[in-house]
Amino acid sequence: MTQPKRAVVIGAGFGGLALAIRLQAGGYQTTLLEKRDKPGGRAYVYEDQGFVFDAGPTVITDPSALAELFNLAGKRLEDYVELLPVSPFYRLCWEDAPAFDYVNDQAALERQIAERRPADVEGYRQFLAYSRDVFEEGYRKLGAVPFLTFRDMVRAGPQLARLQAWRSVYSMVSHFIQDEHLRQAFSFHSLLVGGNPFATSSIYTLIHALEREWGVWFPRGGTGALVRGMVQLFEDLGGELELNAPVKRIEVTDDRISGVTVEDGRHYQADALASNADVMHTYDQLLGTHPRGIRQAKSLGRKRFSMSLFVIYFGLDRPPENLEHHTVCFGPRYRELIDDIFNGETLADDFSLYLHAPCVTDPSLAPPGCSAHYVLAPVPHLGKAPIDWAVEGPRYRDRILEYLERYYIPGLRDHLVTCRHFTPEDFRDELNAHLGSAFSLEPILTQSAWFRPHNRDARIDNLYLVGAGTHPGAGVPGVIGSAKATASLMLEQLGA
Ligand SMILES: Cc1cc2nc3c(=O)[nH]c(=O)nc-3n(C[C@H](O)[C@H](O)[C@H](O)COP(=O)(O)OP(=O)(O)OC[C@H]3O[C@@H](n4cnc5c(N)ncnc54)[C@H](O)[C@@H]3O)c2cc1C
Repeated sequence: MTQPKRAVVIGAGFGGLALAIRLQAGGYQTTLLEKRDKPGGRAYVYEDQGFVFDAGPTVITDPSALAELFNLAGKRLEDYVELLPVSPFYRLCWEDAPAFDYVNDQAALERQIAERRPADVEGYRQFLAYSRDVFEEGYRKLGAVPFLTFRDMVRAGPQLARLQAWRSVYSMVSHFIQDEHLRQAFSFHSLLVGGNPFATSSIYTLIHALEREWGVWFPRGGTGALVRGMVQLFEDLGGELELNAPVKRIEVTDDRISGVTVEDGRHYQADALASNADVMHTYDQLLGTHPRGIRQAKSLGRKRFSMSLFVIYFGLDRPPENLEHHTVCFGPRYRELIDDIFNGETLADDFSLYLHAPCVTDPSLAPPGCSAHYVLAPVPHLGKAPIDWAVEGPRYRDRILEYLERYYIPGLRDHLVTCRHFTPEDFRDELNAHLGSAFSLEPILTQSAWFRPHNRDARIDNLYLVGAGTHPGAGVPGVIGSAKATASLMLEQLGA
């Protein structure tokens, strides 16, 4: 009997997990090697005194892409994890304007838009139609298709031109909508995948249509429950997950990978290898002695990386009051603050925040009568602003908690039971993220599709990438799509 081909996937983020499931279901004997003590990557889980904190993704969109993973393995998503609908999708708040509940209800949206500027109702309808058009082209048709050659890019050219993909998200939203708060409400989404709304291609307006199409969801038990469900599926299929297994080196002979070596010396043989680890880490550290690694690391060093995040996880000894599950807290400045975050060399005095209150949907994430939260602020990555976070972190944390107390959670600090924070330096050290970027390469047009590191390496043909650093990019639907694109190539190799 012939032995099954062996695949190794480095990193158990959503992209690595989704790819490992597809490979195991498709006939590879697959081993998933994860550096940390738990799977999930950015979707790690902290637990303290009965509080459960999802570290990263909390807005779960496109459940159909998740269901597809389970179906291809002959299973049902709902047998592994329960997804709960979230409404409003987000509550958007400003210091100087009434809140806007971003819901999946056309009439309710139009009523709130009309209260601000009646003429923008028609503008919003046109924006939604545009966003749906982009969604069809950019997500449904191209979101899970690898761009390996420039020809693939040229083929997409006419559609990109028709959709005016060279324009920014904010510019396109402003073309349809005049009210400044509404412009912010419909342009901030690209920040969720690391994109500057003033620089990122208008293709990213598709996120709006994607949310309207399938809604916003939250797994019962938190995003960690979704990660556990995916691990369970992978293991049910016979896959092997090794935790505490930081890969130190990728072994290459004559432009072919033979396996990997982990920090403690263990060696894993591989017929095909995919890295879900940071792209710069993969080429610079894991392949750094091979000419291909050196060349790619040099090229990546010239690219633009997304901003970082400062995240505070905190538990309160009382339930969430007057909060929705997801709140976006816009600060006094929008364009100028975003410019400071993407291009500035210091921390701005003001901030815009995302506040997570998951106990609104699932009280089991905190002890009875209590609530778990996190709040994040986008901040410059370490290559832009050389901030000493060991010093600045506690100060910044206090400023943010004080702000939340003033505008959103009165008495917050009197009810604090547990509190920890995660800085750009933690993204760098814990996740091996280049420059501490939270979302890998910045999703600008010239770093998208064929211009992004490819799902299969151009020189080492059994080396693959999956996750935020490859096509299509960051965000849970993005990396699940990247797994589909990468798996199609790896399974093609298996069949050959
Ligand atoms: C705070 C935060 C909030 C977010 N919110 C949302 C949201 O609400 N919705 C959404 O869709 N997206 C959100 N995102 C984006 C989304 O979480 C990410 O784009 C996505 O999870 C990245 O997945 P990935 O597959 O690229 O892998 P990652 O999650 O980056 O995982 C990579 C894994 O590789 C491991 N690794 C690295 N080096 C090695 C090595 N040498 N050996 C072994 N393992 C290694 C790491 O430990 C890590 O586990 C958020 C991101 C952050 C940071």
